[in-house]
Amino acid sequence: DANTILESCVYDHAAQLMTVDTSDPDRPFVKQVTRWLEDGILTEMPSENVVEISPQDGGLGCVTTPLTLPPHIHFYHGERGMNSIPLALVNSLTSPVEQDVWVSPSNGVYYHKPPYRLWQVKAKKQTLYYDNLIVAHNGKCADRLMSKTPAKALHSLLRTNFNDNVPENGGSKMTLNSIYSLVVALPKGALETLIPESVTCAFVKQVEDLRFVSCNTRKYRHLEDVTSDVAAAPDVEVWTILSSPSFAKRHKAPQENIPKAKEREVTDLLLASLSTLVGGEINLQDSVLESRLQLWGAAVPLNTWSSANAGVVTDEASTGFVYDAEHGVGACGDWLLEPSIEGAWESGRRLANWMTQEITNEGEDEKRSVGLPDRVSDQGGRFVANASVLQNGIGSFSR
Ligand SMILES: Cc1cc2nc3c(=O)[nH]c(=O)nc-3n(C[C@H](O)[C@H](O)[C@H](O)COP(=O)(O)OP(=O)(O)OC[C@H]3O[C@@H](n4cnc5c(N)ncnc54)[C@H](O)[C@@H]3O)c2cc1C
Repeated sequence: DANTILESCVYDHAAQLMTVDTSDPDRPFVKQVTRWLEDGILTEMPSENVVEISPQDGGLGCVTTPLTLPPHIHFYHGERGMNSIPLALVNSLTSPVEQDVWVSPSNGVYYHKPPYRLWQVKAKKQTLYYDNLIVAHNGKCADRLMSKTPAKALHSLLRTNFNDNVPENGGSKMTLNSIYSLVVALPKGALETLIPESVTCAFVKQVEDLRFVSCNTRKYRHLEDVTSDVAAAPDVEVWTILSSPSFAKRHKAPQENIPKAKEREVTDLLLASLSTLVGGEINLQDSVLESRLQLWGAAVPLNTWSSANAGVVTDEASTGFVYDAEHGVGACGDWLLEPSIEGAWESGRRLANWMTQEITNEGEDEKRSVGLPDRVSDQGGRFVANASVLQNGIGSFSR
């Protein structure tokens, strides 16, 4: 069952947009975005193409409401898909990056105690040794990966709940939601007139099971001039539909191997919700040319770890990541700062700066841990609920 149309198109099945506040041009992420724009890695999306969308009272079509954003909020996406962004990161590094390498959570890493102080990493049938390790992912895997190591305080932060909600006080554990992403190729006429041509991305309101829809064909129209990617299917529109976290929770499944019956059920339900959004009467299921369903099991953090440093030290340099200097292991990612691409990028940047400083520091005594909970006193920080994720389900990029 080859997805020939989808294979020939550029589409995004997870992150859809980057939202950037450009009011302070000296912010490191704003500088990075400027460089990416200059290098043709990013394309700006006019803010009027991103709207809120909801069903109208009767008849076909939907109601679109402009987002009320200040002029210094800008939307960007990768020039050739959101994947342009990680590719640019890889290409900007001087040391080679091994991609698509799975580190087994059961025996992938092992810490050799002093006098060695080395991390042993097993991957691709090789055993490699490093003086520092960075955990840049979360969820069950990261939890298991670190569970047998002596870095107990860092591991305690990696323990994960999966839910579509957290208590107002943020709860006591990292909590991740789940999201289904359905990519569908539809004949151009199916939605073309129902969702106005000017809409590329939309936050969905008043349809319980949906949170976001995006038209990849409209988003990557500029590729038509230079490649055949979009032109390959000129009579087709490719849409990405993101579910609500509560929908994904109700339809829990093994994400690497969704049973066929569940895949059909979820696909039909999401298409029915899309029909509801655009007027109810139409049967989109029968129009689908191709589809691809993905479950993001460990999708977006509902709470972020805020270390005690965050309240005391105003310096950004020591917040938004964690680093255990005793064992030479750090963690970065959206769950430590803000659930968005920017949050993940900034967390990684801060951890890298901290480690560079620590590594160049002479003498063991000067090495400093940062952001870890104090396991004896239960102090040292707490998880804070993220209001915008709780509201829109898919990250804090909507502002
Ligand atoms: C459906 C969806 C839509 C979203 N939309 C947006 C959006 O439009 N805009 C926005 O700003 N943010 C969005 N987000 C949030 C954004 O994607 C995340 O905040 C961001 O990707 C987090 O980056 P990260 O580096 O912390 O983690 P990740 O991007 O999750 O990266 C972790 C990496 O670790 C790898 N990995 C995991 N386990 C192992 C292992 N055992 N061995 C080796 N590698 C491993 C994974 O393959 C992955 O590449 C969305 C998220 C989801 C789920």
